[in-house]
Amino acid sequence: MAQKWVSFEEVKSRVSMKDVLAHYSLMQGTAEKPSKHGPELRLWCPFHEDKTPSLSIHAETGKFHCFGCHAKGGDIFDFVVAKEEIAAGDRTKSRRQAALLIKDWFGIEPNTTPTPQPPAAAETVAPVEDVKPTAEEPAGAVNPPLKFTFKHLDTRHPYLMQDRGLKEATIDAFGLGYHSGKGIMQGRVVIPIHNEQGELVAYAGRWPADPGWPEGDDKYQLPPGFKKSKVLFNLHRAREHATEGLIVVEGFFTVFEFWQRGRKNVVALMGSTMSAEQERLIVETVGPKGRVLLALDNDEAGRKGSEDARNRLSSQVFVREMAL
Ligand SMILES: [Zn+2]
Repeated sequence: MAQKWVSFEEVKSRVSMKDVLAHYSLMQGTAEKPSKHGPELRLWCPFHEDKTPSLSIHAETGKFHCFGCHAKGGDIFDFVVAKEEIAAGDRTKSRRQAALLIKDWFGIEPNTTPTPQPPAAAETVAPVEDVKPTAEEPAGAVNPPLKFTFKHLDTRHPYLMQDRGLKEATIDAFGLGYHSGKGIMQGRVVIPIHNEQGELVAYAGRWPADPGWPEGDDKYQLPPGFKKSKVLFNLHRAREHATEGLIVVEGFFTVFEFWQRGRKNVVALMGSTMSAEQERLIVETVGPKGRVLLALDNDEAGRKGSEDARNRLSSQVFVREMAL
């Protein structure tokens, strides 16, 4: 058993208040605004039934207070103590419990261990020449934004255009291309994956032939550590079109095909099963009276996945099914 050791400083240096808010899905529609005390977030208070966004949070320090219920605290640990209603005897003990929870949620390992850290997506797939630092980096998020983008991709590769029949506009809209550089995506067509905020969090690599991928490898390569169950592929683009409902499919290329036919409200599970987080994202996106069209593959896994998704979604939204 690993020792239940936790360093407040370490957790704090890796997880921001925004990460914690995102964990609770409280970041939606929340913008950072300058105020006389520094950058401020204003949101619907999660501690009382709020009629206006009454909770003010200092975006950098995490200090928060609510004008409605007067909940307050100084940082992410106080926030989680309040949110989880932790009462562990005294404030320090409660904060320690909160820190352990946060550590768990964001998969934080102490920096001091000599063993390599669990590979972050970026470290594993980044060929050195491609590394490009970005301004924002909420470290410790479930799928942290990548610190690089692949450059020099062959965006007119025959696998995309001839084999899959994608048009240039589709390839460009999704940022697809063949990667000949070094790394685990070498020799694959890469597909950028974004989180719901539209931040690039991973590249999937598709072997550009069917079959013929290297032995021991898979048709698709995903970076180690990437949690696909936390992401709905293409949600950040499809969301704008979700007034017509959402079309939910299994794979990347089905998304591209729908998109190319003008159906832009399409997202992919990246598999045949809908995770709890994906379910939440779907319901939240279409809203209480929204519509969902399940268009999973017409094979055993797809039919099973579709049935399960329909059962779970149908009490929350209008669901139709169609087999591809
Ligand atoms: Zn409040």
